[in-house]
Amino acid sequence: MTDLSGRVALVTGGTRGIGLATVRALAEAGATVVLTGRDEARAKEAASAAGAAAGLVLDVTDAKAVSSLVRSVAKEHGKLDIVVANAGIMQDALLGMIKEELVDTTLSTNVAGTLHTVQAAARAMMRKKTGSIVVLASIVGEYGSAGQTVYAASKAAVANIARSAAKELGRSGIRVNAVAPGVIETDLTAGLSEDAKAENTGKTPLGRLGRAEDVANAIRFLVSDEASFITGQVLGVDGGLVL
Ligand code: NAD
Repeated sequence: MTDLSGRVALVTGGTRGIGLATVRALAEAGATVVLTGRDEARAKEAASAAGAAAGLVLDVTDAKAVSSLVRSVAKEHGKLDIVVANAGIMQDALLGMIKEELVDTTLSTNVAGTLHTVQAAARAMMRKKTGSIVVLASIVGEYGSAGQTVYAASKAAVANIARSAAKELGRSGIRVNAVAPGVIETDLTAGLSEDAKAENTGKTPLGRLGRAEDVANAIRFLVSDEASFITGQVLGVDGGLVL
């Protein structure tokens, strides 16, 4: 079993889905985990249910709030070893139906929010010259998806945040990787029709949709010392699905 004892970790959007499963996986491996959510009561509730040290409020679109929260977590715990930039949204629209507001909210959450988190994490980790960051890309960022042009573009950007930041931060001992989940059964995909789920299952060589724990296990590996020579990678966690 991966040992993360003595490590301090932060997971954004950790109140449900992949984020919550990641909090659990890191805490079970012995890390001190701080999770963030947008609602205070839900963040505190999730933290106590998942064995996290604290549940704090954060909107990742607010660069100043991200910077000050990351700084205060690192200060309180004396360091920050692991950051998982998980917070993200998915809003579907066919090309002709894409409204400016959808573009703004998707890019400010998925792209700018991930960037703010990676920047703040890098600043906090730089002092100790060690750390590991994982961002949440997506299979649709790799292949594209009809009705998901904006989301797919945002997740391609997230993958390239990991690739570029890894190049900048490697000499400072900081690794940056992305996971690119396939179709994972969480609240984000709860709106998929049974037909769409069956179609995706049919196209998946491993014959099922993903679970939040499948992604959390990959993240736990990437942040651990077992992945100490891995950086700038985008790891598919998709059962072999090709869109
Ligand atoms: P989810 O909707 O269950 O969880 C997303 C979390 O992000 C929620 O806790 C939400 O409150 C938080 N969040 C959203 N906007 C935020 C903001 N502005 N500030 C702070 N927190 C915010 O979704 P999930 O399926 O667990 O997805 C987690 C990540 O994985 C997302 O980045 C998503 O794009 C990505 N992903 C999911 C799938 C999938 O099939 N579920 C596939 C590929 C990638």
